[in-house]
Amino acid sequence: MVAVRLDGVATAAAIKSELTERIVALKARGIFPGLGTLLVGEDPGSLSYVAGKHRDCAEVGMESIRVDLPAKASAGQIRAAIEALNIDPRVTGFIIQLPLPAGINENAMLELMDPAKDADGLHPANLGRLVLGVSGSLNSPLPCTPAGIVEMLHRHSIEIAGKHVVVVGRGLTVGRPLGLLLTRKGLDATVTLTHSRTTDLAAEVRRADIVVAAVGVPALIKAEWLKPEATVLDVGITRVVDPVTGRAKLVGDVDPDAAAVAGFLSPVPGGVGPMTRAMLIANVVDAAERVGYNA
Ligand code: NAP
Repeated sequence: MVAVRLDGVATAAAIKSELTERIVALKARGIFPGLGTLLVGEDPGSLSYVAGKHRDCAEVGMESIRVDLPAKASAGQIRAAIEALNIDPRVTGFIIQLPLPAGINENAMLELMDPAKDADGLHPANLGRLVLGVSGSLNSPLPCTPAGIVEMLHRHSIEIAGKHVVVVGRGLTVGRPLGLLLTRKGLDATVTLTHSRTTDLAAEVRRADIVVAAVGVPALIKAEWLKPEATVLDVGITRVVDPVTGRAKLVGDVDPDAAAVAGFLSPVPGGVGPMTRAMLIANVVDAAERVGYNA
């Protein structure tokens, strides 16, 4: 048996095509959604992520506004850039590309964003709304990777309700908010959130109907840990250099042999990554629709 591949590129393309239509409809009403990005420094990974976000915007017909500051920018300069994005009417949502340079308090910077323009769904007010919103519809942006994971499962008709989900990694962008999202009424998963101090990770993973690996340790999750036919979503990304070709490639947290045991497998690359990017665009479009004008 070989696991069915959950194709994040194709699924994200379908989402982007729906978003393109919503953007056309907004523009017809005189509302122009736009994504702002704030990048501080020249971290190669961050440069490439930001470039990808601007390409995604162009693809769906949305404006994007790029603000780049040097790595030596002071906290005051970063604060001023955030304040300018908060009041820029072209920007209906924006992101602060993380990580910020050492010495800059990331949480303090995130708190300065207008929560209504928080495209990553990581502002404390929006994370707080997720904590408080056990049931009913949520009128606030969700963190993009958890939202992308749920969307990936929905669009492949993979049942979540009543299933046991084991999330590996308690990071702020994936693991922690994903547990909150999956246990909302209506999704109704039972979630076990594991981390580096979990005493028997293999035993936890073995009990899972759905495994989400968001760690950043290549091949941490072994094929023999999986329940046969489990759904496995690989989220972790590690850049490794192939010793033979000298070329860099991205690898996930899940041992490639898992494809012989899992029922569904979302790979790295080409799985949750493109879904995350699509959900970022969705957050910006949602924000423009909610506000209903270029504020
Ligand atoms: P993070 O904040 O560094 O969190 C990593 C988590 O992994 C921590 O909770 C850590 O546990 C846990 N961990 C480390 N070693 C472990 C082990 N041996 N066994 C079990 N847990 C272990 O990272 P993050 O921001 O959440 O991101 C996690 C990974 O996902 C990274 O590789 C990142 O690049 C990737 N990512 C991908 C996407 C995407 O769109 N595909 C989006 C976001 C992140 P402790 O808390 O105990 O240290």
